[in-house]
Amino acid sequence: MVTMEQLVSLCKRRGFIFPSSDIYGGFQSTYDYGPLGTLLKNNIKAAWLRAVVQERDDMEPLDASILMHPRVWEASGHVAVFNDPLVDCKACQGRFRADHLWLIVASHGEETKHYPIEAGEEEEALAKGRETHQIGKRWDVTAVPMVIDSPDGTPKLCPSCGGAESFTEPRAFNMMFQTQVGPVEGNITYLRPETAQGIFVNYENVLVTMRRKLPFGIAQVGKAFRNEIVTGNFTFRTREFEQMEIEYFCWPEDGPRVHQEWIDTRLAWYERYGIARENLDLYEHPDHKRSHYSTRTVDILYRFPIGFAELEGIANRTDFDLSQHAQFSGKTLDYFDTKSERRVVPHVVEPSAGVDRNVLAFLTEAYVEEELLDQKGQKSSRTVLRLHPALAPIKAAILPLAKNRDELVACAQGLARELRPHFQVQYDDTGAIGKLYRRQDEIGTLYCITVDHQTIDEDGQVTIRDRVPQ
Ligand code: ATP
Repeated sequence: MVTMEQLVSLCKRRGFIFPSSDIYGGFQSTYDYGPLGTLLKNNIKAAWLRAVVQERDDMEPLDASILMHPRVWEASGHVAVFNDPLVDCKACQGRFRADHLWLIVASHGEETKHYPIEAGEEEEALAKGRETHQIGKRWDVTAVPMVIDSPDGTPKLCPSCGGAESFTEPRAFNMMFQTQVGPVEGNITYLRPETAQGIFVNYENVLVTMRRKLPFGIAQVGKAFRNEIVTGNFTFRTREFEQMEIEYFCWPEDGPRVHQEWIDTRLAWYERYGIARENLDLYEHPDHKRSHYSTRTVDILYRFPIGFAELEGIANRTDFDLSQHAQFSGKTLDYFDTKSERRVVPHVVEPSAGVDRNVLAFLTEAYVEEELLDQKGQKSSRTVLRLHPALAPIKAAILPLAKNRDELVACAQGLARELRPHFQVQYDDTGAIGKLYRRQDEIGTLYCITVDHQTIDEDGQVTIRDRVPQ
C-alpha cells in the first residue's frame, strides 16, 4: 500500500498539492492545490454534485457566504460548545488534543513497554506506535486512551518529551476563527466552521422559491475553517478545508429510514468512483460520543495510509438546527402540509464529506507501482494513478514524436486544438516517448495520443495508448 511519504512526494513533484506559502518555508499545515490537484478536486466536486443534485429530483444546490450573522453561531451551539479538550505538558510546553493522546502498551512474556502516541483513532495509534517504536510482530500491542476516558492507573506520558504526569487538566478550546467585520472594533463574527449552517438559514428561501415539498434536500460545497489544536497527516487535518454537505429535510417519522438510505447512497457513490468496498468501513458512534441532538451518527471510514479514518460523517440531526434558528431568529421555520393540514419542524439528515480527505482517498486508492518487463527482458517500474475516468485531471495527452518537422507539429497542435473544447488535454513534446508515457501514467491520464512520421507520410493515423491495460 502507498505510504503518506510517497503521496506527498508525488503531489509535490507532479503539481497536485504544494505546501502553502512555499517560498516562505510553508505555513502551519496549509496547502495549495496545484494545477493537477485543482483539476482533480474540481472533478470530485462535480461528480458529487452530479450524483446528489443533477441525478435526483429531490435536491437543490446552494452557495452560501462564509461570513454569517454571529447569532447563527450562537443558535447552532458553536459559540458555547464547539470545543476540543486541550492539555499542555508542564515540562516541555507541548500542546495536545487530550482525546488524541494514546498510550501504546506492548507486552511480550514478562516484559511490558509503554509508548505515548498522538493519533486521532485507536487504529491509527496502533499503526503509528508499531512503526515509530519498531515493535516486533511477536509483541502484543494495545492502545489505551491516556487522558480522556482513560482507565484508572494508566500512566500519563508526554509524547514530545516523555515527561510523566506532566499534563495540565484538559480545558475547552473554541475552534472557531474569530474575525472583525468592518472598521468598528468589537464588531466580530467567525469564519464558518462548517458549511451546514448556511443551508439551515436558507431552508425557507429554497423551500419557497423552488416550490419544494417534504422530503427534499440542499447540497453545498465550500470552505470551512477550524482552529484545530493539532493538524497533520498531510491534508487529512488542516485548519482551512473544504466540505461537501447535504441537509436533507424529511418528516420526523422518516428520519431513521432516510438516514440509512443516505449511508447506503454515499457508500455506493465511493464505489462508483473506484474505491474498493474493503477499503471503506462504517463506524457507528456510541451514545456517549454523539452530539446530544443526534439520534444516530455513522462515519464512513477510508483505509488511508494512516489507517482507517473518517472520510464522511452522516448524522440524523433531528429538528435541532431548524428549531434553534427559529428560536434565535424569531422566524417560524415550521413546515405546513396543506393536504394533511399537518405542521412540523422537519427532521434533518446530514451527510457531510471532506473534499480534501476525498482527494487524499482517491489518490491513495489510485496509486499503483508496477514492475514492467520491456521487449529485451529489462525490468523497470512505473507509478500509475488508476483514477476513475471522470476524476482523472487530464483525459488525453498529445505527444508529437518530433519537434523539428513542421507538418508533424502542426498536425499534433491541430489535434490538441480540436480536442480542447471537449475535455482537458495536455500537450507535451519535452522528452523521449518512454519518459512522456511514464509522466502521463503518474498523473492518471486516460489516453496518450502520439503523432509520428507515419501519421504524416503514410496513413494520417495516430497511436492511442490506453492507460488502463492491467
Ligand atoms: P474529526 O473527528 O476527524 O475531527 P469531525 O467529526 O469533527 O472530524 P465533521 O464535523 O463531521 O468532522 O465534518 C465533516 C467532514 O469534514 C469530516 O468527515 C471530514 O471529511 C471533514 N473535516 C472535518 N474537519 C477537518 C479538518 N480539520 N481537515 C480536513 N477535513 C476535515
